[in-house]
Amino acid sequence: MTAQILDGNALAQELRASFKERVAALTAKGHKPGLVVILVGEDPASQVYVRNKVNACEAVGMHSEKLVYPADVAQSVVMEKIAELNADPQVHGILVQLPLPKHFDEEAVLEAIAAAKDVDGFHAENVGALAQGNPRFIPCTPYGVMKMFEKGNVDLSGKEAVVIGRSNIVGKPMALLLINAGATVTVCHSRTKDLSFHTRRADIVVAAVGKPRFVTADMIKPGAVVIDVGINRLPADQGGKLCGDVDFEGCKAVAAQITPVPGGVGPMTITMLLANTIEAAERNAQQEAGR
Ligand code: NDP
Repeated sequence: MTAQILDGNALAQELRASFKERVAALTAKGHKPGLVVILVGEDPASQVYVRNKVNACEAVGMHSEKLVYPADVAQSVVMEKIAELNADPQVHGILVQLPLPKHFDEEAVLEAIAAAKDVDGFHAENVGALAQGNPRFIPCTPYGVMKMFEKGNVDLSGKEAVVIGRSNIVGKPMALLLINAGATVTVCHSRTKDLSFHTRRADIVVAAVGKPRFVTADMIKPGAVVIDVGINRLPADQGGKLCGDVDFEGCKAVAAQITPVPGGVGPMTITMLLANTIEAAERNAQQEAGR
């Protein structure tokens, strides 16, 4: 068997084309969606992520702004800015690029963002809403994975799903979304005793581990759907390329559907950030119309 490739680039393009129409409709009514991205420090990877987010916003006609602070800025300065943005009607989404410098209380900063503008979906109120099965903002990466299931016609109801990784950003919200969609979900992590025992009986495997080619073909049930969230840079002596948490070549021969890296989940993450910001602007427009 050779698995069908779930193409994140193609789906991201398709969705972004539809976003242009929604943004144009909102802009025409005076509700141009606006995202502000806050970057503290000069981490090169974060700079690239922030630039990509801002460019993606502009490409669909949204307003976006990047606020950059030096690494030694006081937390209170960033908190004051967040309070100002919370009150700004032109701003529908606020995102603080993680990780923050060590002197920051990351949780306090994320909680300072108004829940209605928390387009990353990391605020406790939004995490709670997702856990209750009534989400307002879904964290972008697992939201992107759900869109890929939809596009690939993957029926989740009644399926055995195994999520490898329990981070707040990927693993936990992914597990909640799968539960909400009717899957029977097992969450594995570094303390899991026999990982292969779990993955081998799974109809769906989502890998969010951060270890190159960690999931191998012998861990996959024939005909399973394999989603690779990992983004790892191989060492220079192995080619220095990007690779996922899944041994793509090996698993492709066993799985029914699989995502590649690059070109799988990666492009969907920023796409769903745009989706969340547009949804925030649409909700705002509806509320104003109802007043
Ligand atoms: P974290 O490091 O926060 O979480 C990794 C998880 O993997 C942890 O829960 C950890 O367990 C688990 N783990 C580590 N080793 C093992 C093991 N040997 N067996 C089973 N589980 C293990 O990473 P993130 O969730 O933030 O990211 C995961 C990957 O996804 C990374 O490669 C990251 O770059 C990528 N990523 C990709 C995105 C995209 O846009 N495609 C967006 C976000 C992340 P424990 O909790 O016990 O430590």
